[in-house]
Amino acid sequence: MSSISENLRLVKGRIAAAAARAGRDPSEVTLVAVTKNVDAGRVALAAKAGVSDFGENRVQEAAEKIPLVDADVAWHFVGHLQRNKARDAVELFSLIHSLDSMKLAHELNRRCEMADSSTDLLLQVNISGEETKFGVPPEMAKDSLLEVARYERLRVRGLMTIAPYSDDPEDARPWFSQARQLMGELGRLSISNVRMDELSMGMSGDYEVAIEEGATIIRVGTAIFGERR
Ligand SMILES: *Cc1c(COP(=O)(O)O)cnc(C)c1O
Repeated sequence: MSSISENLRLVKGRIAAAAARAGRDPSEVTLVAVTKNVDAGRVALAAKAGVSDFGENRVQEAAEKIPLVDADVAWHFVGHLQRNKARDAVELFSLIHSLDSMKLAHELNRRCEMADSSTDLLLQVNISGEETKFGVPPEMAKDSLLEVARYERLRVRGLMTIAPYSDDPEDARPWFSQARQLMGELGRLSISNVRMDELSMGMSGDYEVAIEEGATIIRVGTAIFGERR
């Protein structure tokens, strides 16, 4: 057995255990395998082992890799998206997790109009307020959604957040809990053209806590593919 399929088996077991602790069905949680710095051959191995969703954080790397992965899988964009990459992003990805400015929303909508397409997005929220992190501040989330709702080609599906780095996954819990609460509040506004069904949070170090706190999408790289070089 390859180490990738063995790692996947462990991660899936932990997903199931975390879901059980929270009284949730593990099928409510989509595992996105983050493949930055992972070559197409190893991505294909993971696809063969049953992974259906992959995440990249750089458009250029993804554009080179995706055609080399001969598998029917969905690609997610999880990194900071520069506006000059918006055109490629709407073509390559089925879900962009990182809508973090209204200028980017405008450009994505424009590119979708030009391609006569539409795109699914998550609003990235900087829940901890760390200066090094992208995302709209939580107190701006409502106004951001009201603005994005006007763009006909953009379909917001929920929120994405990243907890501050820590060795202790428990440190992430209050941030994940706040993100979940915010999602509930925003969902209750019933903004037309905006859905609040998806909550993307949790990485290799904290995905179990994220599931306990309500994540519907987790983004896991290292725990599946090993340390990045
Ligand atoms: C790299 C990355 C991940 C995965 O991180 P790991 O710690 O390797 O699991 C998740 N989300 C984003 C936004 C990333 O850039």
